[in-house]
Amino acid sequence: MKNLLFLNKYLIKYKSLLIIGTIFILIANIFALYPAEFVRHAFDNIESIISKNSTKNTRNFVLLKYGGLIIVFAIMKGTFMYFMRQTIIVMSRKIEFDLKNTIYKQYQKLSLSFYKKNNTGDLMNRITEDVNRVRMYLGPALMYAINMLFLFTLVISKMISINTTLTMYVLAPLPILAIAIYFVSNQINRKSEIVQRQLSTITSVTQEDFSAISIIKSFNNRKKSIKLFTQECKDYTKKQLKLVSIEACFFPLIILLIGISTITTIYIGGLETFKGKITTGNIAEFIIYINMLTWPVASVGWITSIVQRAEASMKRINEFLDNDEKIKNTGIKKKYIDFPISFKNISFTYKDTKIKALEKINFKLERNKSLGIFGKTGSGKSTIANLICRLYENDSGNIKFGSSNIKDLNLSTLRRNIGYVPQDGYLFSGTVEENISFGREKCSIDEIKEICKITEISNEIENFENKYKTIIGERGVQLSGGQRQRISIARALIINPSIYIFDDCLSAIDANKEEKILNNIDSYTKESTRIIISHRTSSLKNTDHIIVLEKGKIIEEGTHNELIKTNGFYAKMHEEQTKKVINK
Ligand code: ADP
Ligand code: MG
Repeated sequence: MKNLLFLNKYLIKYKSLLIIGTIFILIANIFALYPAEFVRHAFDNIESIISKNSTKNTRNFVLLKYGGLIIVFAIMKGTFMYFMRQTIIVMSRKIEFDLKNTIYKQYQKLSLSFYKKNNTGDLMNRITEDVNRVRMYLGPALMYAINMLFLFTLVISKMISINTTLTMYVLAPLPILAIAIYFVSNQINRKSEIVQRQLSTITSVTQEDFSAISIIKSFNNRKKSIKLFTQECKDYTKKQLKLVSIEACFFPLIILLIGISTITTIYIGGLETFKGKITTGNIAEFIIYINMLTWPVASVGWITSIVQRAEASMKRINEFLDNDEKIKNTGIKKKYIDFPISFKNISFTYKDTKIKALEKINFKLERNKSLGIFGKTGSGKSTIANLICRLYENDSGNIKFGSSNIKDLNLSTLRRNIGYVPQDGYLFSGTVEENISFGREKCSIDEIKEICKITEISNEIENFENKYKTIIGERGVQLSGGQRQRISIARALIINPSIYIFDDCLSAIDANKEEKILNNIDSYTKESTRIIISHRTSSLKNTDHIIVLEKGKIIEEGTHNELIKTNGFYAKMHEEQTKKVINK
């Protein structure tokens, strides 16, 4: 249970709801208790009325009186049950809300390497499925546990006060019921988990099929997909049927045990009545008590298995909350960062793949100058960008902004000053306008339009039916690679940062347009520092300095013209690339 102790701080936070809820449960139980007694009185009165030969009116009055009382008490009980749900269940929902937010905040803090290690499905599960199981413990399980405690105390003490022998006999089968139900519900939970897992397999199979539908169709692979899907569904049915066969035992088991208790009550109660120790009314009363106890007893097993599952889920959540794979954020917030940006002997290895991506990198970038990074795929270009944004932490060497080490800079200061256009510019499903203004709290449509002219996308957006309000992504217009890149450049330009990092973000744009955009960006960003990463020499020819990477090392550097003159790797690549353009 030690993992669930973490939740106590939330229970304390909402203690008023919990305490009021508990009082409501107690009151509801008191109202639930009396109707059984009214039934006894009714039975006993019928007997005495018969022996007294009373009038029709008194008979009616006696019967209706108890009937009326039972109805009034039932209404009162119902009312307080409503209040008990309104407090305890509401409390559990509030804690669920808090817990989800805590988890989400932790998600936002964890470093990128954490995300590369864990799969999305598992991350989603913690915040949905695991939290839900914990909520089941805080809500229904806690409520029924308190309810059970009161009900047991009240009903059993009432029963004992009437007749101890009968109470003993009648209660005897109940522990067996509790244990049996515990085992059955455990089985049900285990089987439903298997069913749940199979269901997510089916979901991912279909999801993958939908995303790859064009490949499936063009490779004419429909039959294979259908076969796979059918197989998974057959599996699902098999697992579901196993679950059903266990579930089917649940009610018969309860009914059997109630039956046994009822028969015992009548038999033993009959014997006690013959002895004159109780009345026939008491037998009826006891039968009602037995029925009242059955559900709580059944719920002991159910509650136990909910608590066990919540414990397991909470363990997973705690493991995750204790994860310290965060980038330490120590520095104080400032408005701007200092220059020059310098890399001194930077080497970097990705921990999970052990790939050494950078080795002894040195460069210096002055304010308002531009740096080109050239190299083939996998040479380490994007890794440099990741380190500058501090998405990963450098293992050796120093990255400095002015005189301060990157590790001493406040993270939001750093990132607010960088306009990063990543290689795979992800766009959210939303409107064009929302995507472009993503990094800003408020910005006018005119500003957006202005920026779109710079990235040469405005004509295309104006041609969409809803213009800047066009929904893009899954439920909207599908954009081409080049359009996506130009929108993600616009998204970076609009925040007007002091440093821009363009990571190969013109790769899907043709040479002609590339030239135009680069010129526009050049004149727009004169007042900022730029890092342009590319595997195309054409994108870099106007930069102030270029470093050429191969396998994580700088092999050449200089301006475009200098590098051409050196006649090394860069020059060779430049020649090949220009030839290709001319041949086209
Ligand atoms: P480029 O941007 O020049 O194509 P990268 O900087 O992306 O190169 O990659 C450099 C090397 O690091 C490659 O060998 C790549 O496989 C590896 N790498 C890149 N990103 C990761 C990552 N997140 N985890 C592990 N290895 C990575
Ligand atoms: Mg890259």
